[in-house]
Amino acid sequence: MSRAPRSGIDESELEVVEPEVTSVGLPAVTHAMQVALTQMGPVRTAQTLLRVNQKHGFDCPGCAWPDPEHRSPAEFCENGAKAVAEEATTRLVTPEFFARHSLADLARQDDFWLGQQGRITHPMVFDDGATHYRPITWDDAFTLIADELEALDSPDQAVFYTSGRTSNEAAFSYQLMVRGYGTNNLPDCSNMCHESSGAALTASIGVGKGSVSLQDIYDAKLIVVAGQNPGTNHPRMLGALAKAKRRGARVVSVNPLPEAGLIEFKDPQSPLGLAGRGEKLSDLHLPIRLGGDLGLFLGIAKHLLERDEESSEVLDRDFLERYCDGLEPYLAHLRTVPWDEIRTATGLTEAQVRELGEEFVRSPATIVCWAMGLTQHEHAVAMIAEIANVLLLQGNIGRPGAGVCPVRGHSNVQGDRTMGIFERMPERFHDRLDAEFGFASPRDHGYDTVQAIRAMRDGKVGVFMAMGGNFLRATPDTDVTEAATRRCRLTVQVSTKLNRSHVVTGRRALILPALGRTDADVQASGPQRVSVEDSMSAVHASVGRLTPPSPHVRSEVAIVAGIAQQLFAREKAATRGPVLDWAALQGDYRLIRRHIEAVVDGFEDYESRLDQPTGFVLPHPPRDSRSFPTPSGRAQLQVNQLTYPALPEGRVLLQTLRSHDQYNTTIYGDSDRYRGIHHGRRVVLVNPLDIERLGVADGQVVDLVSEWRDGVERRAERFRVVAYPTAVGCAAAYYPETNVLVPLDSVAKGSNTPTSKSVVVRLEPR
Ligand code: SF4
Repeated sequence: MSRAPRSGIDESELEVVEPEVTSVGLPAVTHAMQVALTQMGPVRTAQTLLRVNQKHGFDCPGCAWPDPEHRSPAEFCENGAKAVAEEATTRLVTPEFFARHSLADLARQDDFWLGQQGRITHPMVFDDGATHYRPITWDDAFTLIADELEALDSPDQAVFYTSGRTSNEAAFSYQLMVRGYGTNNLPDCSNMCHESSGAALTASIGVGKGSVSLQDIYDAKLIVVAGQNPGTNHPRMLGALAKAKRRGARVVSVNPLPEAGLIEFKDPQSPLGLAGRGEKLSDLHLPIRLGGDLGLFLGIAKHLLERDEESSEVLDRDFLERYCDGLEPYLAHLRTVPWDEIRTATGLTEAQVRELGEEFVRSPATIVCWAMGLTQHEHAVAMIAEIANVLLLQGNIGRPGAGVCPVRGHSNVQGDRTMGIFERMPERFHDRLDAEFGFASPRDHGYDTVQAIRAMRDGKVGVFMAMGGNFLRATPDTDVTEAATRRCRLTVQVSTKLNRSHVVTGRRALILPALGRTDADVQASGPQRVSVEDSMSAVHASVGRLTPPSPHVRSEVAIVAGIAQQLFAREKAATRGPVLDWAALQGDYRLIRRHIEAVVDGFEDYESRLDQPTGFVLPHPPRDSRSFPTPSGRAQLQVNQLTYPALPEGRVLLQTLRSHDQYNTTIYGDSDRYRGIHHGRRVVLVNPLDIERLGVADGQVVDLVSEWRDGVERRAERFRVVAYPTAVGCAAAYYPETNVLVPLDSVAKGSNTPTSKSVVVRLEPR
């Protein structure tokens, strides 16, 4: 068994070198194997990495990038290997571990140290007033949860959070239990990431999901990658971009930072790539100002209109006439948007904006991809609606090589939403759920993530339960969220590994150890498979084969079934909930999928289609038939007023982001090698012109202090200033360390997503 690190990250070891201008290649293979062998040893490394993302294997617990039709023997990236190694590690967190470490001791550890301790082997409870977690039996744990839920005055005093790794089967069972209990308080990690995409796309084209397939990426002639760093967050996407380029596509990156992954790619699947030959990816990089993308896409649309007025060949008038509403008011609006406002908003010259505009003019098939760099701003929904506008102008929806592509960061975050993990599901879903299970599900909308934290802060929540994830480190305004959590009577974490959400708890706390994707899941009817949905709406099976870390670890479905059996045996809950044999659902997941077929659109013949090696693709009317399930039945061009984050004198706009040794809030290691940061995380990347303007120095240690209209100053201490080629006025630092700077109430209009990509901060010398 490999040994866990004795201490956390030692910032005194921090080293800063020139950022990389190339990515992947042999270094990625080396890093991946180092982590894999350290965590799993040679046998498990082979058992897992030769099965991840394979047709009869398990789905990578990392991001939601789709799997190609033809899989390579090593169908994973460096960060996928790290995600697998972290889960399939041989390190264990046993009851003895908890006896050695008091809660106070665990609270002093950093995220890296906590995550490196290994897989949790037993259900654990922390009693009110105790100092240490102690073991508890599953039955006692389920009883405790059911008693606490039954004791609440209203089901709306409970919150049930979901992280994007939860399988379709577990997510569907979980939402059924929660709605049976009587609430829609089902916040999820999507609230903090692509909620803005869902809100904008639903209004524009009627479906809140991406409209392209992997084949479309290969067939596109222009791919714009905006506010996304695939080199770290979706690394196999680089291979797809390289393939598209070999087929004649142009790639444009729009990002305040020059990211190595979008500069050059060394294909680890090819001998030449391993030998060091790189392929240039971006043909053009626009170092846009944080939050400037609405201005950029308005500028591109203006350019398309002006070019069309010259030649009448740029806008797809036939498509616009047949399928779209709102064209004339939109074109009239474009004519009023001043170029100098676009320059200020984007931090780019008019020529740079028009250069990208010309790329759109020349391209017969265009895709725009994006991630958090667009979704976590106050005006994010308008920004993404403007992307849809630009694509609609040229008919780039519902044909090969064209469309919208929000790239999801969590392996099944899209699937969870499809399964009903959402605080405001459509009436149709509720009607079908009620008909299928013979109960009346609650219809009042529940809390999303930000609303849940407010309710916890205000003492309105007695029980908080999280299905996976690290709520405390993923959410904004850390000090507020921690205090809010401590107000709960009971917090329940369904987890594979330790994290901060286990050490900041309610008065009582439970840790329920769950199986991971790599683990064999054997129930009464035998080995079980689960299913997931990727960013491109493809649903496929996932089967783990490893022996679980201990016989006391249960599947997410089994945990839900265990709680539900206790809960619905209670008087109040029984009057509201569905009459259901939860043990049967636990015993055979095919029963769950049969219910999903009856309730969720697009899952006909679920079982037999899951037998297909590549699974099946869910319907997407705009992609499939250019039909737009909006209220009017037509796509909507929307008029968005140009807005962008203001930058007060003597301040910078900060974005929180991941290092290369990180996946969401999981810290794999202490380096961010593509950006030249080694052995440390408390750095703030600042443009040299801003360093001079602010009167600080490269290498100086400062506090980051955020300022927002609530007048509260939020502080993150001891960050080393690093001179970095980021867009002028824009800085960057890692989360979760900087989530403390993001005000809880600073959210995107129309989606309530925290504005983690444009936080006004000052750098305060220490
Ligand atoms: S690209 Fe994403 S899904 Fe694919 S192996 Fe890497 S982390 Fe896993």
